[in-house]
Formats: sequence, C-alpha cells, structure tokens
Amino acid sequence: MYPTKAYAAESAVKPLGPFEFNRRAVGPNDILIDIHFCGICHSDIHQVRDEWGHSLYPMVPGHEIVGIIAQVGAQVKKFKPGDRVGVGCLVESCRECPECKEGYEQYCPQPVFTYNCKEKDGKTLTQGGYSTRIVVNEDFVLRLPENLPMNATAPLLCAGITTYSPLRHWKAGPGKKVGVIGLGGLGHMAVKIAKAMGAEVSVLSRSRKKETDAKRLGADHYCATAEAGTFEKLAKTFDLIICTVSVDVDWNQYLNTLKRDGTMVVVGVPPKSPTVNAANLIFGRHSLAGSLIGGIRETQEMLDFCGKHNIVSDIEMIPIQKVNEAYERVIKGDVKFRFVIDIASLK
Ligand code: NAP
Ligand code: ZN
Ligand code: ZN
Repeated sequence: MYPTKAYAAESAVKPLGPFEFNRRAVGPNDILIDIHFCGICHSDIHQVRDEWGHSLYPMVPGHEIVGIIAQVGAQVKKFKPGDRVGVGCLVESCRECPECKEGYEQYCPQPVFTYNCKEKDGKTLTQGGYSTRIVVNEDFVLRLPENLPMNATAPLLCAGITTYSPLRHWKAGPGKKVGVIGLGGLGHMAVKIAKAMGAEVSVLSRSRKKETDAKRLGADHYCATAEAGTFEKLAKTFDLIICTVSVDVDWNQYLNTLKRDGTMVVVGVPPKSPTVNAANLIFGRHSLAGSLIGGIRETQEMLDFCGKHNIVSDIEMIPIQKVNEAYERVIKGDVKFRFVIDIASLK
C-alpha cells in the first residue's frame, strides 16, 4: 500500500480540498507511477459537480496523467523504472468482449475509468491524477514521446485522443474541410491535429475573442457564431465537424453547414442534449455521430503522431491549491487552453 496525497471532492456542492488515501500494492503486472503533472478536463468539472448523475465520492479527479515510473511488478515486460509515461481515462476493461479484443476498450461494457468508477472488485473506488502517485496495470500505461515536454503532453491523454480518434475515423486529411466547434481544451487540440493530418480547418467560436489564437494554432478560417449571417455563409461547407461544446447548444444550425454526406461528430457531453430535426439530417444525407476518447492502441498511436509532428497542448500551469479557481475559469472559457496541475505542489 502506498500513502498518497491528493485533492478530492467530498460532494457535488463542496470545493475540492486536501485528501489522503492508499494506492494498492504493486501486483505482478502493475506499475507505480510518480505523478508529475495532471491536466484539468471539463469532464472533471462535470463529474465533481455530478452534472452527469451517479458521481461517487470522495472523488479524486484527473485523467490526463503524466509521470515517471517508480517501480514495476515482477512480470512487467514493457516498462522499467525511470520511463516517462502517461495514463488517460481508462485503467482496466473486461479484456474479453469483442470491443476489448479489437482494441476499443473505451466501448467495453465494463470499462474501469481512472476515477469516479469502481475497480474490478466492485468495491474500491478508482481515484485519479490530482494525486502524488498511481498504480496501474501495464496494459493501460502509455509511453510518452521523448521530444515532448512532459507538462504540455498531459492534455494529450484525454483532449488529444478524444479529438484524434474521430479525426482519424472520419478521415480528416488533404482535401477535407473540417470545422471545430468550441475553442477550449479539446477544440484547440482538434485544430492542431486536423492541421497536422493535412485538412483545411475552420474554428467556430462564439465571439471574435479567440481569433488571433485560433490562427496561431493553425486554423485556416475563423467564424464567430454569434454574428448575424455566419450560418448562412457556412451552408454546405464542411465534410466533418467536431463539436466540443460542454453545454446544450442547438446542433441543427451546425448540421446545415455540412456538405452532402458530411458528418458532425459530437464529443462534448452537455448535461442535457438538444433535439435534432430529422430534416437537417435528411436534406443532405448528413450523419450525426458521437465518439468516446480512444482505445489504448490508438492512444499510443496519437502520442507517437504528436511526437512526430511536435504537437503539445497550450497550457497554463497551476499549483493544486488553485484548482477551484481554475474550474471557474474553465467554465468562463478563460484559459489558453488547458490548465495543468504541477503535482509537486502536493508534496
Ligand atoms: P472546455 O475547455 O471548457 O471547452 C469547451 C468549449 O465549449 C469552450 O471553449 C467554448 O468555446 C464552448 N462553450 C462553452 N460554453 C458555451 C456556451 N454557453 N455556448 C456555446 N459554446 C460554449 O472543455 P473541454 O475540456 O474541451 O471539454 C469539452 C466537452 O467535451 C466537455 O463536455 C467534456 O466533458 C467533453 N469530453 C468528452 C470526451 C469524450 O470522450 N467524448 C472526452 C473529454 C471531454 P468558444 O469559447 O470557442 O465558443
Ligand atoms: Zn477528459
Ligand atoms: Zn471488454
């Protein structure tokens, strides 16, 4: 057992505060990671505040975890102490279902999420990366590219893979026009990754506020959706749209910016979902789809892709003591573009 310092939520209505607990002993296939940095995903806020329902407390959030291996179990083959590694949203799955067998562990009917979930024993709560260390089975540990700084790599473990996976699946690349709705943590990664894949990228943000940043991140076009006439101008423009918005917005107007046979992929998980008019799908043979993070194999592929293209997140570092303030700033859209917690502040 390893005593671990953390920040946790005790309930949906209290701010996060200091918390101590024990990580399990390192089993033969486990790895003990000293956590150095952890990103703040909007999903942490949704879950801490029980906006999706069924939150389990006490909850140590955090699923954009990077650190250095402190110890490995006797049968660990892929890693050794000192390796730079990451852990994302998943720490186990059933390993037997068709999804697991094909490398889509995120779609397993019994996934074990990094926090706000129960371990396979059905009793112990999993606890995430706002903590000093974590013990994870080696099959759910990712290798970080050597050329990327560790702190700015942390957000790739969720924001990176959640946008990479649909961009790959729906074949973003040369000749394809991709629209990214919402320029936050996920949105800014979608811009960087879609550009590196060779697509023509437009950002659809609410106001003009983020225009200079969007261009700096590589966007070819910028549209402020609150401005009159924007949706009319964008009619039949995109092959693919990635919607990263964290609140309930009207998907119908975006569906009409798709070309014939275009697809809008929803990755943002608002607490309440909007209603879609069938006509906005039918007239244009449009598809409305969703996508959940990515499997372990694809997450490693994404990290290697980002290493090759020198892609990391734009981050603002904070000590853990500022986490509640950071949550308020994420909700206001006041971060460029991901907060990363320096876990040294917990020690
Ligand atoms: P974020 O950094 O807060 O970004 C969300 C963006 O949504 C904001 O930057 C903003 O973009 C837009 N937005 C916010 N409030 C809005 C409003 N009232 N009207 C219109 N647009 C608004 O959040 P994130 O960490 O990127 O996460 C985004 C969503 O994805 C969350 O719901 C999260 O839970 C979900 N998520 C899903 C998966 C998955 O596997 N599917 C994985 C990770 C996260 P502009 O300011 O540019 O308009
Ligand atoms: Zn996340
Ligand atoms: Zn499974």
